[in-house]
Amino acid sequence: MITSDAQIKNIDVSNLKGVGPKISSSLNRLKIFSLFDLIFHFPFRYQDRTFISKVSDLTTDSKTVLLCLKVKAVEGFVGSRGKVLKILFADDTGVIEASFFNTYATFVHNFTSGRRVLAYGSIKPDYMTGRPSLVHPEITFLKTDEEIVTEEFLTPIYPSTEGLGQAILRKTIKTALDLIHKAPLPEILPKNLNPYGISLNDAINDVHYPHPQSDHAPLLPQNLTAFERICYEELIAYQLCLLLLKVSNSSHKAALSITFNAELSDNFLKSLSFKPTSAQLRVFNEILDDLKKEVPMARLVHGDVGSGKTLVAIMSALQVIKAGGQCVLLSPTDILARQHFAKCSALLKAFNVNCVLLTASERKSDRLNLLKSISDGSAQFIIGTHAVFQDDVIYKHLALVIIDEQHRFGIEQRVALLNKAPQGTSAHQLVMTATPIPRTLQLALYSDLDVSTIDELPPGRSPIITALIHMTRKDDVIARLNAVCCRGTQAYWVCPHIEEGEDDDIASAKNVYEELSHKLPHLKIGLLHGQMNSKQKNIVMEEFAAGKISILVATTIIEVGVDVPNATIMIINNAERLGLAQLHQLRGRVGRGSAQSYCLLLHNADPENQIAQKRLQIMRTSNDGFKIATEDLALRGPGEIIGTKQAGFDTFKVADVTRDHRLIESARNSALYLKENEIKSAEDLIRRWFPQYLTARDDKNNGHSVSQSS
Ligand code: ADP
Ligand code: MG
Repeated sequence: MITSDAQIKNIDVSNLKGVGPKISSSLNRLKIFSLFDLIFHFPFRYQDRTFISKVSDLTTDSKTVLLCLKVKAVEGFVGSRGKVLKILFADDTGVIEASFFNTYATFVHNFTSGRRVLAYGSIKPDYMTGRPSLVHPEITFLKTDEEIVTEEFLTPIYPSTEGLGQAILRKTIKTALDLIHKAPLPEILPKNLNPYGISLNDAINDVHYPHPQSDHAPLLPQNLTAFERICYEELIAYQLCLLLLKVSNSSHKAALSITFNAELSDNFLKSLSFKPTSAQLRVFNEILDDLKKEVPMARLVHGDVGSGKTLVAIMSALQVIKAGGQCVLLSPTDILARQHFAKCSALLKAFNVNCVLLTASERKSDRLNLLKSISDGSAQFIIGTHAVFQDDVIYKHLALVIIDEQHRFGIEQRVALLNKAPQGTSAHQLVMTATPIPRTLQLALYSDLDVSTIDELPPGRSPIITALIHMTRKDDVIARLNAVCCRGTQAYWVCPHIEEGEDDDIASAKNVYEELSHKLPHLKIGLLHGQMNSKQKNIVMEEFAAGKISILVATTIIEVGVDVPNATIMIINNAERLGLAQLHQLRGRVGRGSAQSYCLLLHNADPENQIAQKRLQIMRTSNDGFKIATEDLALRGPGEIIGTKQAGFDTFKVADVTRDHRLIESARNSALYLKENEIKSAEDLIRRWFPQYLTARDDKNNGHSVSQSS
C-alpha cells in the first residue's frame, strides 16, 4: 500500500500512538503539526553507539566513544569550587578516569564499587596526566549479567524544546517512520532524474537512522547522500514554482500599459533636495521600458544597502498612479512600513497622491475606512505589511506591486499579492532586495525575474569604518560612546538576544540597556525588540528618528530598511554569532548621511577559531555586499550548519540554498525537463513541497474577487 502525501499531511501528530496533549503541544512549538512535518524533523547530529571501544585502544584523538566499564573507585569532588566529580572506571583492558560537572550530591551514591555501566562521552586528555579521560559521559547502569545490545544504526539527536526529551522525540518519530515504512510515500521523482538511486522513503529513513560511517566523517545529516537526495527534490520543486510563476504571470492577461510622463518625472526630481545617481536613473529607465508594455513587468531591483532603492520605487509608483493605476508597497515589518509611509507621503504630497498606511495594528473603524478607500480607488498608494494581501482587502485597480526586502517573503505571498489585480488583468511587479547573494544563487532564487542593479551609492558617503573589538574592551567602547554622544551623535547597539538565555556568553538587549542606562545616566537610552507591541516600537523609533534618543539598544529587528541618517555609530554585540549577510545589513543602518560612520564589531571570537577570525576580517576590510557574500560562501564548508535561514530564506523545509548551491543548476534542469515532459509529476512535487503556491494560484483561477464593485 502506498499513502498519498495528502493522507500523511492530514494526520495530526496528536493522533499518533503515545502522543498525548502535552507532547503534541511541545511538537507544535517545534512547528510540527502533521505526520508529514514529523518525518521531516531531521536530527542535527548523531551519536555512534554501534560498537563498544576498549580502554586500551583509546587515544586522546578518540573523540566520542561508547565504553562498557566497572566502577573502580569514587575519587570525590575536586576543582576550585569542589564541583567536579571524579570517578575511576575500568574494563578488562585498562582504567580510565571520568569527570562529571554540576552533578547533584546524591548522584555519587549510584557509583558503588564494581557496578557495571555503559558510558557514552567524549575523550579529552586529562589536564594533569595528559592521558585520555572521559568528559561528563552519559551513564546507563547495567545489571550484573545484563547483555549489552549495541545499536545497529547511528542514534539521532533532534532539535528539541523544553519538556520534550530526546527519548520521547525519538520514540514518536520512530512511530511515524514505521507508518511510512508500511505505507510509503509515493515516489514522484522519476528514476532518470534521481542520480542518488534512493527513494524518498528510504532517504527519510536513512537520515533519521544512518548506517555507521566508515570514513569517520563528522556525524552530521548534511554529509549523507540520503539527505542530499531530499534537498535535491525540494530544490527541483522550488525551481518548478519559479518556472510556473513565470508562465502564469506572463500569460494572456494584460497589465496597464504606461506611457512615460516626462514632465511629471522632471517636476518630481526638481522637488528633491538631492540629485539621483546615474545608477538610479538607469534602473528607473529599465523599469519604464517594462511599464510601457502590456506584458506585466517582473523585475528585481538589487542594490546594496543605502543605494537608494526606495527612490526608484517612488518614481515608478508616481508614473503608474498618474496613469490611473493603484500601487501597493509591501514591507516586512511595521517599523519599515511606517517609515516608507512617512517618506512617500512627504515626497508625493505636492503631487496630490493619496497615500495610506495599512498594517495589522489599525483600529477596526479606521481599518474599515481604509478598506473602503482601497476598494473605491480613492487610496492611490497603499503602503503596509502583510495586511495588504489579506482576503478582505480589495483593490479597485491595482496596477503595480512593489515588494521591499523581498527575501523576507515566500513566493506564495508574492503570488497572493499579485492576485489582487482586478480579474482579467495582471499587475506589474517590482521587487527589491539588498541581500547580497552571489550571482549564481540569484539565478536560482529569482529566475522568474529580470534583474536591475543599482551599483552606485549616492555621492558624498565615505565608506563606513569597521573595527573589531574584543568583548574585554567593552568599557572602553562605552567611554568613547559617551564622549561622542554627548556631542550629539546617535548610535545603535545591537544584541542577538532580547533576554539572558541559556547561553550566558551572549549579552542580551535588556541587560545592555540596563547597563548603559546605569553607566550613562545623562544620555537617553532606548530599547527596541520584537516582543514590544507595535505602538511601543513606533514611539521608540520616532524618538530615535527625532534625535531624542542617543543610543538605541535593539535586537536584529532593526536589520531591515531602517533609515535614520543622523545615526552614525553601529555597535554589534557578539558579532561572531551573526552571519555575514546579517552583519552587512545591520552595518547598512549607518553611513546613510554625509558624516563619517563607524561600525564596531564587539566580539568574543576564539583566537584559535580561524574561520570566525576570517569572517570578522572580511567584515572589517570590505564594504561590498557582493564580495562579502561570495567570500562567505567560499568559507563555509559543506558541513556548516549556518545557512541562509538567517538571511531570510526560510522558504525551505530541508534544503538550504547556500549550503546546497552546487545542486541548484542541476535541479533547475530537472525542473525544466519535468515541466516539458511530465507536468503531472511537476505539479505533485510542488504540491508536496510548496502547497501554498498552488493554493494561491488556484484561488485566483477560481475567481476570488466576489465584490469588486461593492
Ligand atoms: P536602500 O537601497 O537601502 O533601501 P534607501 O532607499 O533607504 O536605501 O536610501 C538610503 C538613504 O539615501 C535615504 O535616506 C535616501 O533618502 C537617501 N538617498 C537616496 N538616493 C539618494 C541620492 N541620489 N542622493 C543622496 N541621497 C539619496
Ligand atoms: Mg530599503
